[in-house]
Amino acid sequence: MVDVFKGSFTQQEPIPEAGIEAAVAVMRHGRLHRYNTAPGETAETVLLEQEFAAMVGAKYCLAVASGGYALSTALRAVGVKAGDRVLTNAFTLAPVPGAIAAVGGVPVFVGVSAQLVLDLDDLAAQADQADVLLLSHMRGHICDMERLMEICDARGITVIEDCAHTMGAAWKGTPSGRWGAVGCYSCQTYKHVNAGEGGLLVTDDAQIAARAIMYSGSYMMYERHLAGPPKEAFGTIRFETPNISGRMDNLRAAILRPQIADLDRQCERWNARYRVLESGLCGVPGLTVIERPKEETIVGSSIQFLLKDWPGENVEALLVRCAARGVELKWFGAAEPLGFTSRYDSWRYVCAPAMPATDRVLAGIVDMRVPLTFSLEDCEMIARIIREEVGRLYPKET
Ligand SMILES: *Cc1c(COP(=O)(O)O)cnc(C)c1O
Repeated sequence: MVDVFKGSFTQQEPIPEAGIEAAVAVMRHGRLHRYNTAPGETAETVLLEQEFAAMVGAKYCLAVASGGYALSTALRAVGVKAGDRVLTNAFTLAPVPGAIAAVGGVPVFVGVSAQLVLDLDDLAAQADQADVLLLSHMRGHICDMERLMEICDARGITVIEDCAHTMGAAWKGTPSGRWGAVGCYSCQTYKHVNAGEGGLLVTDDAQIAARAIMYSGSYMMYERHLAGPPKEAFGTIRFETPNISGRMDNLRAAILRPQIADLDRQCERWNARYRVLESGLCGVPGLTVIERPKEETIVGSSIQFLLKDWPGENVEALLVRCAARGVELKWFGAAEPLGFTSRYDSWRYVCAPAMPATDRVLAGIVDMRVPLTFSLEDCEMIARIIREEVGRLYPKET
């Protein structure tokens, strides 16, 4: 009998009951705007910021409207201006170069290694081109952060971390988002916490935090940011910083707080699924599983493998055959962007030189989401389906 998987790759879990109740309470009292509080009340947004800052060990946290907004605000807050070049990953998703473009910056792409992280040799080679690196921990893969910080510190490069795929992950025990000057997270449905939309920005730098709060639209109520810097930090910043509204509201914060509290447990559940998929895909001829370094604390909310040097038609045939059996794979090697799988040469507003070494890696990357609605048995079946279909297409036809 041929297995066919019936689950949905886009179905997340429901919002926890505590989040639903807190959201209903906010709707009942009607004070959704973060600065609209009753006497003595601390806004849900502020509580979320305090709780998230404590979780990652940051001095300051700001909740905003989206992960992309957190990125563009971080870029502005570290001083990126129109025309400035910003180093970033060639292998990432569209909101990352988009955030650079939003502030009028010019992305300079750094290649991807066979481990699917930023190629640090390429970073070192291009490091004289910009003062800021927007580092994307794409698909949860974290590079050697000590070496990265050495390269950047030596050249005075400010690092902003895009942790859209690494909330809960760490390198050598230090949470992702806490190595660079600013960490940015997304609370959008397909990330590790789900408020529909939303973002979080963390930093230990009082000036960066003050600027970010002003940009996000504080209407001079910055003193009510209990996870913000002291009011002295706003000195001239409050007069010099434009209001580019992108606040988070209390409804989303109420939905998120119980999810943040439960994040560790959710990460363990993701990793249990990831490990089942990983071991099910190990040792399949033609398929390379990405080995995860021991320094990395992962959150396996998606899995990638490489089909090294497979002809494009075979990769496409594999995706079609797996899809027919209910397994939704995405390929980063396709000529045109499909769904979320765009790549550096799909962003034609950037004038980027060809990157042959990166192209070769991208051509082999296959990606799969792992929602928590999948059981461990589902993951076993999915790995079996991929294994069988890879076996049909490799090596005969390659
Ligand atoms: C989702 C995502 C973001 C932020 O996206 P929003 O949808 O704006 O919250 C940033 N970087 C990457 C790599 C992402 O996948």
